Amino acid sequence: MRRPLVRDDLRSMEGYHSPQVDVEVRLNTNEAPFPPPDEFQEAFINEVTKVDWNRYPDRLAQSLREDLAALHQVQPEQVFVANGSNEVLQTICLTFGGHGRTALTFEPTYAMYGQIARTTQCRVAQVQRDEAFRVSLDVLERGIETENPALMFLCSPNNPTGTPESSAVIEAALALSSAAVVVDEAYGQFADFTALDMFGSHDASESLIVTRTFSKTWSMAGVRLGYCIAPSWMMDEFQKVVLPYHLDSVKQIAGQVALRFQDQMEKRVTQIAGERKRVSESLTLMELDVWPSQANFILFRTTPCDLSGNEVWKRLLDRSVLVRNCSTWPGLDDCLRVTLGTEQENTIFLEALKEVLQ
Ligand SMILES: *Cc1c(COP(=O)(O)O)cnc(C)c1O
Repeated sequence: MRRPLVRDDLRSMEGYHSPQVDVEVRLNTNEAPFPPPDEFQEAFINEVTKVDWNRYPDRLAQSLREDLAALHQVQPEQVFVANGSNEVLQTICLTFGGHGRTALTFEPTYAMYGQIARTTQCRVAQVQRDEAFRVSLDVLERGIETENPALMFLCSPNNPTGTPESSAVIEAALALSSAAVVVDEAYGQFADFTALDMFGSHDASESLIVTRTFSKTWSMAGVRLGYCIAPSWMMDEFQKVVLPYHLDSVKQIAGQVALRFQDQMEKRVTQIAGERKRVSESLTLMELDVWPSQANFILFRTTPCDLSGNEVWKRLLDRSVLVRNCSTWPGLDDCLRVTLGTEQENTIFLEALKEVLQ
């Protein structure tokens, strides 16, 4: 029997890889180390008993969008909700990408931008960040001029480097191109800067899209819920490409109930920011190259020591500590990314790393 041929452009592509190894300390996927509060569980279980199981969900997730709009002080018509911000990104790519168009990324950055864009047959143009992993105005201008992108992805703070974006760069991106400018704020609450402030005040906000997720700060990676704030004219376009009833009733409830516990979320963020300071300082004391982070992870380079990044990664794994091995990613030679866990997990990581480097 012959197999049906997959699309030509898919044959050379690879799927997303982040090994889920069974270890004691898992610090490789930037999840929150704590679950949502017990009160969340109780409230959620109570709300779920009200679901009309035989009926399709509210197709537009109206109540959830209203709650998110209130949270960010925008209109519900500016909120689009989907199955994780990855589905938001896919919806954006289906709307603005596709065959014959170009998506611009600033490397190193979140690999899913290119991956998702390509699955919509969009061409991907990559430009490099500077040594501090910043998007310089220079690079931005050149990228826009030479590639004429239909959409571009700025990640703030950037995964995997932890660097936030500046309003100057986003304003320049909006002013210099007619592209959809996506600012991915998956880690937005950990940072000093948010592009959300640019809605309302900014003329060019006709092309600004800010994405957020419940996966990180809201401690709900298991739920797969994300959203974006965008100009209201885009909503009708997004509805053309997204599957009807893509967001199930249970998930809509989970999101709404989660939002009732914003205080606890903010406390967790503060706690992790404290750990970020402590772990950064310890890594610096070990004489590693450490990049200042505004997210819940830290990127560091092992070069000042004698061991390669890959070797350090393996030896940490031998000690049942899993971090993200970025050492083969372009521009990230010998770099590892560690997610901030609980205080105890971070201490175990630091002790293991000290041992490895000795
Ligand atoms: C983790 C992460 C996301 C989250 O994706 P979800 O689909 O919402 O889980 C989005 N963007 C970046 C840069 C991330 O690191």
